[in-house]
Amino acid sequence: MCRSLHNEEGIISMKNEKKDKVVILGAGLTGLTAAHFLENPSSGGKAIKPFILEKQDIAGGLCRTEEKEGFSFDHTGHLLHFKKKDSIWKKFIEGELRIDLKKHSRAASIHIMNTLVPYPFQYHLAYLPKDEKEKCVRDYLKVYKTGAPAGASFRQWAEHSFGRRMASLFFLPYNQKLWNFNLNKMSTDWMGRFVPGPDAGKILRGAEKKDPSQSAGYNASFYYPRSGGIGQLPAALAKGKNIVFNASIKQIDFTAKKIFFEGGNMAYDRLISTIPLPELLGYLKGAPQNAAAKKLKWTGVYNMNIAVKKNFSKLGHWIYFPHGKIPFYRIGFLSNFSALPDGFSTIYIESSYRSERKKTSGASVMKFFNIKSDEIIVRKDIDIPYAYVIYDMAREKTLAGIQDFLSRCGIISTGRFGGWKYSTMEEAMQDGFDAASSSV
Ligand SMILES: Cc1cc2nc3c(=O)[nH]c(=O)nc-3n(C[C@H](O)[C@H](O)[C@H](O)COP(=O)(O)OP(=O)(O)OC[C@H]3O[C@@H](n4cnc5c(N)ncnc54)[C@H](O)[C@@H]3O)c2cc1C
Repeated sequence: MCRSLHNEEGIISMKNEKKDKVVILGAGLTGLTAAHFLENPSSGGKAIKPFILEKQDIAGGLCRTEEKEGFSFDHTGHLLHFKKKDSIWKKFIEGELRIDLKKHSRAASIHIMNTLVPYPFQYHLAYLPKDEKEKCVRDYLKVYKTGAPAGASFRQWAEHSFGRRMASLFFLPYNQKLWNFNLNKMSTDWMGRFVPGPDAGKILRGAEKKDPSQSAGYNASFYYPRSGGIGQLPAALAKGKNIVFNASIKQIDFTAKKIFFEGGNMAYDRLISTIPLPELLGYLKGAPQNAAAKKLKWTGVYNMNIAVKKNFSKLGHWIYFPHGKIPFYRIGFLSNFSALPDGFSTIYIESSYRSERKKTSGASVMKFFNIKSDEIIVRKDIDIPYAYVIYDMAREKTLAGIQDFLSRCGIISTGRFGGWKYSTMEEAMQDGFDAASSSV
């Protein structure tokens, strides 16, 4: 079958033999930002208009916003956390993409023992029943001087940083649910700023009295568009770009530097890939790294979204659910940071899976939040087959081997799943910028 593909200007012939060009795989935030800076080089160099090959019929990847019957849903919560107060990416979004951002102070909690404990858990032990709080403090005092050993697994890190009781109430069951992976075999390399560590003063103060203002972590505050969804970011970047939608790649010949489709091929001079590494390696004809690709591990997320005629404004931005018997690990209230008319709420419910996709049952959510079926206006389910990279003990070595091979082939593989890492939208934009800078 011979297929022709379309970009915004019309049909693109796949029999493109021109060599002097950059091709980008994937029109998510990383690929689109790379294209933006190739077309508008910040160093004032020669502008290049790359082709972007995207398998979906729309740009944006994980950062898309889906619309259904007048309601907007992101792919679970997508909030902007900037590393620095004067982040160049905040300026870029507001100044160049012209998106008005609003700052929010995080209001998040953890559902433990039928009560809501403010996040981070370790700084709010006074919200637990008295005997539980005492067990947590007692176990913490056993470990606080020594902490976790170097090279600890995630389980060891949690038990040695916070003590066994805090680990077993939150850190272990929550992470087991999120990662679906043996926590004894998981490293702590992914945590960085994502998981606040132990701070003895805050832990002990938080055990003495309830103080919801004890906050910490990379997302203590966040930004979100004042109106509309997060999909405005990729939508603004995608304008005027040379995107080939519905691209169905069959093979990449990295020696001849050609990408093959049904009915055509496209030559490249430089290739920037932002698609998941296992997919890229699967396309590379005769790549010696195909065995390594099998060692890469990740989770998918099943994201059920609902719009309801009910007010949830008192529940904050999101709630973590560590208990193994509750099927979802987190529920977020999009309408509490992206305004809807009074009396309506939009809710995202997240459950994770590895081999078999797990659909969250609507019944469990409705029961939990006492939502009647006639209060649900819209349901929109989104499957995210690549959601979180698992940092098992072999990841670092496997990834280094793969990236070394790809760079010898002249391929830059970057972004969340191209770089095979736990990273944010801000980092995706930085990755795109870096890839563009090293491709000119
Ligand atoms: C559940 C979840 C919640 C998140 N929450 C936040 C948050 O709150 N804040 C934050 O900053 N970040 C968050 N992130 C991370 C953020 O989404 C990513 O860092 C960012 O969107 C990654 O962009 P990317 O372009 O690297 O990857 P992607 O968005 O995955 O883009 C890759 C693109 O490649 C395309 N593609 C895939 N395979 C092929 C193929 N074979 N051929 C052609 N095209 C292909 C895809 O369709 C996609 O468009 C979250 C991620 C997840 C999964």
